Amino acid sequence: MSELQTIKIPDIGDVDDVEIIEVLVAVGDTIDLEASLVTVESDKASMEIPSPVAGVITSVLVNTGDRVSEGSDIMVMDVAASSETAAPEKTPDPTTTSDKPATSTSEAAAVSPPKASNTGAGTSSVSPEADEAYKSADEKYDLVVLGAGPGGYTAAFRAADLGLKVLLVERYPDLGGVCLNVGCIPSKALLHTAAIIQETQDMASHGVSFGKPKIDIDKLRGFKEEVIGKLTGGLAGLAKQRKVDIAHGYASFNSAHTINIKNDQDDSSRIAGFTHAVIATGSKSIRIPGFPYDDPRLMDSTGALALADIPKRLLVIGGGIIGLEMGCVYAGLGSKVTVVELSDGLMPGCDRDLVRPLEKRLKADFENIFTGSKVIGMSALKSGLKVKFEGGKAPESDTFDRVLLAVGRSPNGKAVDAENAGVDVDERGFINADSQQRTNIAHIFAIGDIVGQPMLAHKATHEGKVAAEVAAGKKSYFDAKTIPSVAYTDPEVAWMGLTETAAKKDGIAFEKGSFPWAASGRSLSMGRNEGLTKVLYDPETKQVLGAGMVGPNAGELVAEAVLALEMGADIEDLALTVHPHPTLSETLNFAAEVAEGTVTDIYVPKKR
Ligand SMILES: Cc1cc2nc3c(=O)[nH]c(=O)nc-3n(C[C@H](O)[C@H](O)[C@H](O)COP(=O)(O)OP(=O)(O)OC[C@H]3O[C@@H](n4cnc5c(N)ncnc54)[C@H](O)[C@@H]3O)c2cc1C
Repeated sequence: MSELQTIKIPDIGDVDDVEIIEVLVAVGDTIDLEASLVTVESDKASMEIPSPVAGVITSVLVNTGDRVSEGSDIMVMDVAASSETAAPEKTPDPTTTSDKPATSTSEAAAVSPPKASNTGAGTSSVSPEADEAYKSADEKYDLVVLGAGPGGYTAAFRAADLGLKVLLVERYPDLGGVCLNVGCIPSKALLHTAAIIQETQDMASHGVSFGKPKIDIDKLRGFKEEVIGKLTGGLAGLAKQRKVDIAHGYASFNSAHTINIKNDQDDSSRIAGFTHAVIATGSKSIRIPGFPYDDPRLMDSTGALALADIPKRLLVIGGGIIGLEMGCVYAGLGSKVTVVELSDGLMPGCDRDLVRPLEKRLKADFENIFTGSKVIGMSALKSGLKVKFEGGKAPESDTFDRVLLAVGRSPNGKAVDAENAGVDVDERGFINADSQQRTNIAHIFAIGDIVGQPMLAHKATHEGKVAAEVAAGKKSYFDAKTIPSVAYTDPEVAWMGLTETAAKKDGIAFEKGSFPWAASGRSLSMGRNEGLTKVLYDPETKQVLGAGMVGPNAGELVAEAVLALEMGADIEDLALTVHPHPTLSETLNFAAEVAEGTVTDIYVPKKR
């Protein structure tokens, strides 16, 4: 039973006829008592108008730019609906600080929310009751999540923790998406093995020699599968503990408040109704037309991770992070790896001083690296895949036992019938979302790879939390200052915030401190001297703007720099923070000391 109440502008002091500068909620939102509804601005100040009741918004009666006074109607809310959707035993009072998410989502941002890039949000929502398909849906949820990758399962779990009734839909039998099943986790399990093999070989220069490794590929594959199984099984358990319903099947929009879930196993389908939805259907590998895709020797990253065999000669098309990581895996296992990259250098976009040590090592570990070159044809022969090249130092053609195509990923936005819900999808398949992860349809959110670059799991999970929190009525925003990037190659390359490449391109003033790992006791004791840590900072304020490092474990080190950026630390903070010795983490401290002119571990001539 619904109980509708019209919300009015309360007494806001001695101001009258004020402008609405932002509508903070949309139809379908579940609102807590005191949650902000609109922001109004007079010539004296701006203020948010709190809700006098808890409930679900059924109509928004004002738009940005409207002028209102005490008593003006602004919303209609169903105050009975809040008690239906709330789960008091699980939901802590959202107005207390104890439930604040330990993420980049910021309650404080409610005071001054970042500007939404998607201007359509909040204006084109229809209420579930106005949706005929919703009325006759087989089941009804506060939130349905399409896709159980890191973005989707995080959104589902966070929403359930906030008291929403949640359905998580996944087309495959296992939860976890690309990241857990065919991405981050299996690649890191295999990269670890490759790195150990490499290290045992490096030990020869320390006076310790190991024999040639014997590789039991079935056992290695089994180890990788076991790691995946533990994590995906864990997710299923976590979903159960939170009472998140799981549906296995292909989800597509049926209307603005319903999805169709088609189960390919038994060809059955059902309709689920929702108040809010999150699209988290991820991305897939890009294909270059005209290649012989019916030949299993031509693989994408999923095929390469399946580890069917260890090819004598492997060609990797694409010198980005995924291609190079997989190249390191196969080189470690004994394949002769060739990489072909269209740009002039590996890992386009990353600062060259960070890529150089990696490039140097890979030149020794790989058979060939052809930059400024492209593949213009491929044919399947009995003896292998014959590949034709063009440009750079690549030969005219060569034949490989296997080829990995790793030229990027494209979003799955066009495959969910988003138009049935009125959600805009661009020509490439991306779905635009604002800083609250709302699409142009305010009660439908989009997160993860489908939203855009960077296509990284940690971006997807943080966006998932924001979407869940907003759907649950919280004022959360994705306001992270940076999303760090890591290549888990050997050596690892990691960076965050402003890069030198971007700063130079955009004319952003910066200064930097760099510390070579050749002067790091820890790095030298590991037999490695090629690393580098650098920190970029504002010449005026000395605040940290960015950082990058290359060397073993760089991916772990970058987290401290991310925290520095998020906390608004300046270069002195990093220089005066005592780091444990001897560690690689000291290199960030030393880089800051170089910037400060206080370093004693290397000699830096004074600037005149
Ligand atoms: C080889 C490789 C290595 C990687 N390594 C890293 C790394 O080290 N670190 C990192 O941060 N990122 C890494 N990534 C990227 C990372 O995997 C993705 O950024 C991340 O998985 C995106 O999460 P997501 O939730 O957006 O989507 P996905 O993980 O793609 O999940 C989407 C889910 O939706 C399901 N789905 C799609 N359509 C439907 C539908 N219509 N109905 C139902 N279900 C549907 C899919 O089956 C999938 O399970 C790697 C990727 C690859 C390929």
